[in-house]
Amino acid sequence: MSEDVVKGEIRKDYITGSRVIFAFSRDKRQRDFKNEEVTSNAKDCPFEYGKENLNKTIKLVGNPWKLRLIYNKYPIVNEEIIHYKNSNFLRRYSNYGHSYVIIDTPNHLQKFHEIEENILQRWFNLIIDTENTTYSDKRIKQVCTFKDSGSISGGSLYHQHTQIIGFTFISPIIKKEINIIKNNHQKCILEEALKKEKERVLIENKNAIAFAPYGSRFRGHSIIMPKRHIDYVGRLDRAEIKSLVKFIKTILAKNDKIFDKHSYNLIFHELKGSKELHFYIEITPRFSNIGSAELSGLYINPLTPEEYTKIFNETD
Ligand SMILES: [Zn+2]
Ligand SMILES: [Zn+2]
Repeated sequence: MSEDVVKGEIRKDYITGSRVIFAFSRDKRQRDFKNEEVTSNAKDCPFEYGKENLNKTIKLVGNPWKLRLIYNKYPIVNEEIIHYKNSNFLRRYSNYGHSYVIIDTPNHLQKFHEIEENILQRWFNLIIDTENTTYSDKRIKQVCTFKDSGSISGGSLYHQHTQIIGFTFISPIIKKEINIIKNNHQKCILEEALKKEKERVLIENKNAIAFAPYGSRFRGHSIIMPKRHIDYVGRLDRAEIKSLVKFIKTILAKNDKIFDKHSYNLIFHELKGSKELHFYIEITPRFSNIGSAELSGLYINPLTPEEYTKIFNETD
């Protein structure tokens, strides 16, 4: 490996146009999962009380802390800029960016949906603060907020945590979503969808809604969104945050009953400053690794969203 790629870099795959992030430090991460089994206990966990010296703290919420914002010790992107000379064909870029982690609970075994509502409201506020700080760096084009929970979610640690990453480019999925809206005469796809998703509604109140999308890519796939058209999490009001917290807790708790022990991803879809994008949160339960079909852009789902909605509504 040549000296200048030790910190990682981003290369463009000339076949698909995708950017590939080479983040070498991540190979050194602790891994709590061996197949489906959790191999760590609180004793080995770097996110426990008393181990604050292992990761640099940016902010604590509560005393003793209930939420803790830290720098990612094994960042996907890092804060050093390297300038590369590029040919037209083989293109590489500095993997400059910001990489943060929120430790969602001090309790090793607590599930995300078991966290108290008022703490999860503060979790939203901490994400908003962190995203705003990240966006204040003018080089940053997109901030991604997500949770990988469980062994096949892509996560490596069992202890509940959230990642917030600022990139100097916009992700292909968000670009694709924006293009679909542009091709739809700038009309918001999600607001149009709400008229057609009535039989797949999971929970609804006056300011927010959750539903199982018609084309659910995953078993138990759900979308949770404010009804108001806003571009990113930073524009949510208090009532909307309260609703989203309730909906996330309900969906994750019910999914636990419906699917038993399973991994999941929770992803914020948003882009500050976008007219097109309507902020939403996606929850995708995960039961298998990404296979060849998914790598080819095809998804296989054994449970229709109508069946999922029925089971969901029958579950207490
Ligand atoms: Zn822990
Ligand atoms: Zn909208």
